Amino acid sequence: MIVAIDGPAGSGKSTVAHAIAERCHLTYLDTGAMYRSVTAECLRQGIDPADAAAVTRVARATTITFGTSPAGQTVTANGRDVTAEIRTPEVDRNVSAVSAIPEVRTAMVELQRAYGETGDVVAEGRDIGTVVFPKADVKVFLTADPAARALRRAVQREGGDAAKDASATADPAEVERILADLNRRDQLDSTRKTAPLKPAPDAHHIDSSSMGVDEVVAAICALDPR
Ligand code: C5P
Repeated sequence: MIVAIDGPAGSGKSTVAHAIAERCHLTYLDTGAMYRSVTAECLRQGIDPADAAAVTRVARATTITFGTSPAGQTVTANGRDVTAEIRTPEVDRNVSAVSAIPEVRTAMVELQRAYGETGDVVAEGRDIGTVVFPKADVKVFLTADPAARALRRAVQREGGDAAKDASATADPAEVERILADLNRRDQLDSTRKTAPLKPAPDAHHIDSSSMGVDEVVAAICALDPR
């Protein structure tokens, strides 16, 4: 059983994919965290994200592992805990350049497909239904209006979850900054040559702007063909 959830930044993919993984006993695969880990590793090594050959070498040499802690998912790159580092504004600024490099994508897609071979997976990203798992049992393209997406990310950064708590608020200046970053990343991710962000032709579109996480999860579970 493979569930593919694609969509722009902050559309609620992580929260929803996590909930589906728990409810349906699937392995959760956060492919954005993989591109972020390669980006963090490049920045740590002082490699320019525009240097495709050097970034590709890093992508091929980086072992990424996922774990869990009481606070949620943990990520390591070459044994180093990068859970917090991959969410910094610096990684936000550089990850789209890294993920636009075709050889980096090839390396990541290979790792992602290996997860699919281990059994039941819910994977979230930008190209899951189009490239990574084109034969996924369920494909969803999750969207939300930009203001809702920026607020969710800002609340998440402050340790809350706006998808679960409709009354959550955040510093308006921070929301503005995140909105600008999301718009810039969406533009780069949807216009790149290799695997641009776009819905698979057979994806179900869900606009989560005014839906709670339980509602979105229920809508996706209702698509389960089993
Ligand atoms: O999902 P998240 O916002 O963490 O993804 C970070 C970045 O990783 C995206 O903006 C995009 O550039 C890249 N990405 C990608 N393909 C995926 C997942 C993420 O290009 N499947």
